[in-house]
Amino acid sequence: MITLALSKGRILEDTLPMLKAMGVEPAGDIGRLLRVPTTEPDLQLVIIRPADVPTYVAYGAADIGVTGKDVLMEHGGEGLYEPLDLKIAGCRLSVAQVRDAPALPPHHRLRVATKYPAITQAHFAQRDMQVEMIKLYGSMELAPLVGLADVIVDLVDTGNTLKANGLIETEIITHITARMVVNKAAMKTKHAAIKHWLARFAEAVEARA
Ligand code: AMP
Repeated sequence: MITLALSKGRILEDTLPMLKAMGVEPAGDIGRLLRVPTTEPDLQLVIIRPADVPTYVAYGAADIGVTGKDVLMEHGGEGLYEPLDLKIAGCRLSVAQVRDAPALPPHHRLRVATKYPAITQAHFAQRDMQVEMIKLYGSMELAPLVGLADVIVDLVDTGNTLKANGLIETEIITHITARMVVNKAAMKTKHAAIKHWLARFAEAVEARA
């Protein structure tokens, strides 16, 4: 049995059609069940938050998983192989601020609200900027509107959320897609099965391209 950890939310929306194209469908209510059998007798799904996927896979609770490059960059990929870019759930990690924000005074320490403190710190450190980090868990777009932060670092796809809140993207830090991750021990002990699934995913990626 291979356990595949899938990321809830936008990544799941793109992963399910990819699985369907591979001839694999959940055999249960993925809205309610956390562990779901599939139409493949040797494959089950666990549906979890993107940031938990590296943990499940690194501990071997899932053999393989799908999560965003943003999560892997922020949490590190220890205990994991990252063999495949699935080229789905594409977006960018960007800096954004209020449109027409007044210029900040010269020695002002920039306040940055983000769910990604490690990536953000590294990004501004590269520019020799020490910033004040404000860790949030969601709705980053609100922070600059209510004076909690000068800028945000968040995922942007269409840009509609920024636009609707009067924000503009000022810098792209990196482009992001969903990645396949594999438990390092399982890669040895379940080599044939994992190779089989990696090959099927790789074919699906090719077919989409
Ligand atoms: P958009 O309005 O299309 O630019 O989407 C922006 C909102 O969706 C923000 O709240 C982001 O955090 C979230 N978002 C965008 N792309 C992704 C993605 N690939 N995975 C998860 N969340 C995303």
